[in-house]
Amino acid sequence: MTETSQKKRVALTTLGCKVNQFESAAFLSSFAERDVEVVPFAQEADVYIVNTCAVTAKAGAQSRQMIRRALRKNPEARLVVTGCYAQIASQDILEIVAQPLCIIGNGFKHQLVDAALSDQHCDLEMLMGDISRRDEICPLEVTSFGDRTRAYLRVQDGCNSFCSYCIVPFTRGRSRSQLSDQVVRQARIFAEEGYRELVVTGIHTGVYGHDLEPQTNLVSLLRQLLQEWPLRYRVSSLDPGEITDELLQLMAAEENLMPHLHIPLQSGDDRILEKMHRRYRGEDFADLIGRIKKIMPAAAIGVDVLAGFPGEDDQAFQNTYDLLAGLPVTYLHVFPYSKRPGTVAAGMSGQVLKKIKDGRVAALRELADRKKKEFYEAHLGEVREVLVESGGRRKSAAMKGFTDNYIPVSFAAPITAANQLLKVRLEQLGEEGVVGTVVGQEFA
Ligand code: SF4
Repeated sequence: MTETSQKKRVALTTLGCKVNQFESAAFLSSFAERDVEVVPFAQEADVYIVNTCAVTAKAGAQSRQMIRRALRKNPEARLVVTGCYAQIASQDILEIVAQPLCIIGNGFKHQLVDAALSDQHCDLEMLMGDISRRDEICPLEVTSFGDRTRAYLRVQDGCNSFCSYCIVPFTRGRSRSQLSDQVVRQARIFAEEGYRELVVTGIHTGVYGHDLEPQTNLVSLLRQLLQEWPLRYRVSSLDPGEITDELLQLMAAEENLMPHLHIPLQSGDDRILEKMHRRYRGEDFADLIGRIKKIMPAAAIGVDVLAGFPGEDDQAFQNTYDLLAGLPVTYLHVFPYSKRPGTVAAGMSGQVLKKIKDGRVAALRELADRKKKEFYEAHLGEVREVLVESGGRRKSAAMKGFTDNYIPVSFAAPITAANQLLKVRLEQLGEEGVVGTVVGQEFA
């Protein structure tokens, strides 16, 4: 603690996915209700919290780096480590930390704030537990999400799929959904705080509600949200088999449900998909894209793709490339396959050389640039709804936002336009998207 203030100084850093970010926002919301001072992670603090990620070996290394950084800033500080890396590599963390340390497993994040502010040592076992036995989602509530425009709405945690390259089922346990009334309550808090867009998110969002009693699903949840709080909703990643016609029709009918899908394809080669334990084939994916475009011609379709999975030969890569090249997808998130210890794929033969992987990643990224440009060009001349981003110190003439179908647009508008919905005509390609002109105020 500082000499001038009796308040504990708390610093937090977050790695990884939207669910981690929601959970960190819940910690900060809870700290805001306590008598503590939240300071930037780079500053000296009395308590450091590192919300780690383990999705790749690199994410694990970055998590360790953040732990070391905190210790260097204040070796006397109380250190609290949570998240996926803490869940699967607590021993590795103990090896790099000599002082008292509190490790909070993903299933106990609702106890993190109390543990962080306690003066007692943590009971490691109590706060780790066996994640695969957790059968309820951690009760966490967020009152503020930093940026005032868009917030993540966590509806689900965990995954039952065990894709062969993925460590997540081991770090987050089985699929657990938030009760719909609690999701609606969280949406109400965000609405009352002034947020205009919520990203409905989970670890495996497409299986929302399947574990609840009575069973429900994502479409029912979205209907309830749309009815109760007419904000803009954007759905995060959904597996191909989870994008039903019912969902697409709801998206097409509801102007508050954004025409935007993000789909992890990973590979377009059926042999590789089978080795990945993915439950669809390239042909299913092509059919799906056709269905989406038929129901919502202007929809944005983002795709995750992994290059260089074990056993991916030139032909298998070409199959992925050709599939994507021939489909009207909007943007690609391309990742080189990286070995994640503890997964089935890490032990597979046929690991692909880095040089080959890099070449494949580069080819897919070049395709991604082309696809994105084609999509943006196809929408030039249209007037679309844009939610103006807040934050930053932008001046007039430098406002930005995303259209309903996820085109980044910059346009001249006063700073007071932040967090408003504007009608913007998309006029020409810019450096990072499209440049447009405001032609009207709020749609709603
Ligand atoms: S669906 Fe597959 S890739 Fe996604 S979290 Fe579950 S195991 Fe990982």
